[in-house]
Amino acid sequence: MKTVGVIGAGQMGAGIAQVAAQAGYAVLLSDVDQARAEAGKAGIAKQFARAVEKEKVTAADAEAALGRITPIGDLAGMAPCDLVIEAATEREAIKRQIFETVGKALGGEAILASNTSSIPITRLAQAAPDPARFMGVHFFNPVPVMGLIELIRGLATSDATVAAVEAFGQSLGKRIVHANDAPGFIVNRVLMPMLNEACFALGEGVATIPDIDAACQLGLNHPMGPFTLADFIGLDTCLEITRVLFEGTGDPKFRPAPLLVKYVEAGWYGRKTKRGFYDYSGAEPVPTR
Ligand code: NAD
Repeated sequence: MKTVGVIGAGQMGAGIAQVAAQAGYAVLLSDVDQARAEAGKAGIAKQFARAVEKEKVTAADAEAALGRITPIGDLAGMAPCDLVIEAATEREAIKRQIFETVGKALGGEAILASNTSSIPITRLAQAAPDPARFMGVHFFNPVPVMGLIELIRGLATSDATVAAVEAFGQSLGKRIVHANDAPGFIVNRVLMPMLNEACFALGEGVATIPDIDAACQLGLNHPMGPFTLADFIGLDTCLEITRVLFEGTGDPKFRPAPLLVKYVEAGWYGRKTKRGFYDYSGAEPVPTR
C-alpha cells in the first residue's frame, strides 16, 4: 500500500492524513472543494509546527511528511489510491454519495473504508462498488495522540480487506481491535452508557457536576470525569450516539437521559458552544448546575 486517500479534511480527516503522511504514505486529501482541502492541509501544517516546537518530530521530518499530502478538489483525483478512508460529515446520504462517486474512480483492487462512528457498515457497503472491499476503520480524536483503531467488518467484507487495513493501521503505530458491526462498536457501546448514567445521576440529584466528575476521575482512575469528557466530545454527538444504541438494540437500558436531551435542546453542546455541563466563557470552567 503506497497511496492513501482521505475524504473530509475536518477534525478527523486531517488527523488521519497527518499520521498516514508521517508513516510515509503519499496522501491525497479532499473535501467539498479544493479550497476546503487546502484549508485542511494548512491546519495540518500548524499541527506539525506545534509538534516541532515540542520536539516530538524534527523540522525535516515534519516538512517531508507535509510534502507527502496533496489536497485535491475532485474525487476523480483519488484514482491512484490503494486505500481511501472517508471521514466526511456523519450523514448517511453524504457518505453514500461519496462512495458512489469515488467508487467510479478507483481501481479494481482498491479498498474503501469509513471512519463513521455510528452508521452500520453493512448498510454503507451497499453504496460501495464492491462490499467485499469495504469496511469500517474507526479512529479516535485527536488522531495523532490516540493509540487505538477499531476495525469493523461488514457482512460481505473479505478477509483480505481486513488484513490489508489491519496492516495499514499497525504501520501507523496504532493498536488494532476488531469489533462486529453492532451499534457503537466497542468504545462507544461502553462509554456512552456511562456518560448517560452520569446525566441520570445528576438529574436525580445524586451529586453535583464537580463531585460526579471528581468521583469518577479519582475513584475510577479516569483521566477526566464524565461531564468534562462529554463537553469535549459534544453533547449533541453523545446524544446522537446514545440514540443509535437505543434504536439499534431496542434495549431500554440505552434510553437517553432527559437532562442530556434538555442540554442539547438548549443548544448547550459543550466546549464547541462554550457551554455544556460547564460554562467555558471565563478563565476557568464553571458548572452550569
Ligand atoms: P468535521 O465536521 O470536523 O469534518 C467533516 C468534514 O467533512 C468537513 O470538513 C466537511 O466539509 C467535509 N465534508 C462534508 N461533506 C463532504 C463531501 N461530500 N465530500 C468531502 N468532504 C465533505 O467532522 P469530524 O469530527 O472530522 O467527523 C468526521 C467523521 O469521523 C464522522 O463520520 C464522525 O462520526 C467520525 N468520527 C468522529 C470522531 C470525533 O471525535 N470527532 C471520532 C471518531 C469518528
